Amino acid sequence: MSKTAQLLVATNNKGKLREYAELLKGLPFELTTLSEQGITEEVEESGSSLEQNAVRKATAYASLSGLTTLADDSGLEVDALGGEPGPLSRRYAGENASDKERNDFLLAKLRDVPREQRTARFRCVIAVATPGGGIAMSEGVCEGIIAFAAKGEGGFGYDPIFYLPELDKHMAELSLAEKNRISHRAQAAQQARHILERLSRIQ
Ligand code: IMP
Repeated sequence: MSKTAQLLVATNNKGKLREYAELLKGLPFELTTLSEQGITEEVEESGSSLEQNAVRKATAYASLSGLTTLADDSGLEVDALGGEPGPLSRRYAGENASDKERNDFLLAKLRDVPREQRTARFRCVIAVATPGGGIAMSEGVCEGIIAFAAKGEGGFGYDPIFYLPELDKHMAELSLAEKNRISHRAQAAQQARHILERLSRIQ
């Protein structure tokens, strides 16, 4: 009997891990994590784009683990801030800031910006790397508006201040299943599933 191949989901972000556990269900891969693989090295997100950072993480962790590896780099682009924080989303309010501090920081920056100018989007770039050096990428985008106050307990990161006009809800008010139907990560993962299915046939 052939052994199911493992797929390393290379993130220490528990919110992302929860989402990927659902988004990658049913694929011919057994999911594994950095902590399960005993990998403690941090790959620095030093690239200037989400694409560079995703590729950097996926290739580095594929070579460290010897496993097919999926990594994502995601960020929030706020039009009134010229696309910031973008690739700097995690460190926007300082290296060790909490999600709440990041949200408060962004809300304060946008305090005087009227609703019609608060347009924003989450972007997610996924890179899938093989230990042999193969690499493929996918991308997803989710449009919304930065609210005037946080709301909701679900999700992670900037979800409490990201308002979805079509649903009349903040992202953090959605269940995991609802977020996984519409999010930037869900769209990128849908394409990544095709990449992984193809890979599983040639491995
Ligand atoms: P990274 O991809 O781990 O560098 O994530 C960058 C930062 O973007 C995270 O720390 C979060 O603050 C934010 N972020 C990424 N994905 C999401 C999401 O799905 N919802 C809300 N915030 C997110």
